Amino acid sequence: MDPIYLDNNATTPLLPAVWDAMRPYAVEAYGNPASAHAFGRRARRGLEDAREQAAALLGAHPDELVFTSGATEANNLALFGLSGDPPGRLVASPVEHPSVIEPLNQLAAAGFTVEWLPVDGQGVVSPAGINPAAGLVAVMLANHETGAVQPVCALAEWADGAAFHCDATQAVGKMPVHFHELGVTSLSLSAHKFHGPKGVGALLLRRGAKLRPRTWGGHQQAGRRPGTESAALAVGLAAALDLACRDMQRRTTVVRSLRERMLTGLHGSAAPLTLNGPAEGGLPHTVSVSFPGLKADALLMALDLAGVACSAGSACSSGSLLPSPVLRAMGVPDAVLHSAARFSLSALLTPADIDEAVRRIAAAVRRLRQNLPAAQARD
Ligand code: PMP
Repeated sequence: MDPIYLDNNATTPLLPAVWDAMRPYAVEAYGNPASAHAFGRRARRGLEDAREQAAALLGAHPDELVFTSGATEANNLALFGLSGDPPGRLVASPVEHPSVIEPLNQLAAAGFTVEWLPVDGQGVVSPAGINPAAGLVAVMLANHETGAVQPVCALAEWADGAAFHCDATQAVGKMPVHFHELGVTSLSLSAHKFHGPKGVGALLLRRGAKLRPRTWGGHQQAGRRPGTESAALAVGLAAALDLACRDMQRRTTVVRSLRERMLTGLHGSAAPLTLNGPAEGGLPHTVSVSFPGLKADALLMALDLAGVACSAGSACSSGSLLPSPVLRAMGVPDAVLHSAARFSLSALLTPADIDEAVRRIAAAVRRLRQNLPAAQARD
């Protein structure tokens, strides 16, 4: 039985063309980019070309791009680095990734006040009733669990001069992202979400924004993120982003049609189910559905045995079996909350993969539903 990978919001496979672009910088041009000799100069050239290419693809200046180990580090760098000193007021959406929520909790413990923006039933954030006067506002571009796209441009205008951090990890490579047009102060991304390597991401930071570094001990990247840079990983990020941008229209069309196929198939063979997040207008890569009555962890295990890889809520909370804080913030009923499965797609999948996945999901759902009364009797 061939496994079917439907967990592309957790991570995506590295494309062979990306590996080909990176490999020379791992094996041959292995110098330290800070070294003045020929080995170092070659690595530095690769690193700075990658910075220029990635920044241009995202509508930023090269000196506005700071390479990091991924989006978790970039989010931490932005939130701790731009929030200033307590006491201050921070405003954020409650549907952010834990790598934004947890730093905000830490800042709250350090004396900041954190206010949460309202979210509607589709997972879309609005500023209604919230005072924009804040030291820092944080709202993501596309949600990792529902695919909801947030009105970041409008929110940045509403924030009117406050520093604004946007976690664009699930959006970059999947929809056009132009840093300056979004009007935000900082923006985070991670290469492994768009078929690049794991362990590299970036923080885009507006020229002139005052960032307090999180780590100290080197002059690299203007001291904003000291430490030896990996030219190979940076080249991988830029190559993956370049491919994603050039192929975006085709990939989006493919993924949109796979999503429709999957939803039609599931409605036909695994009803009743509910779709979490926007039916239209979100990123089509995410199919979050609930099978009321079932338990998400039991379904996930059954699907793993059946060779379908997916996730319950976000990958980071699925290990702990806690219900998704994102769906909770959207106010979904308990039965929907506890039975949510997130299938996330990529353009590498085929219609036949989707048909087979739907067949396996429907079989698992039917079997679990048959067992439901007995299981409930045991409880
Ligand atoms: N933000 C969002 C919206 C994400 O989906 C993820 C990955 N799950 C992250 C941040 C963290 O990214 P990384 O794995 O690069 O640390």
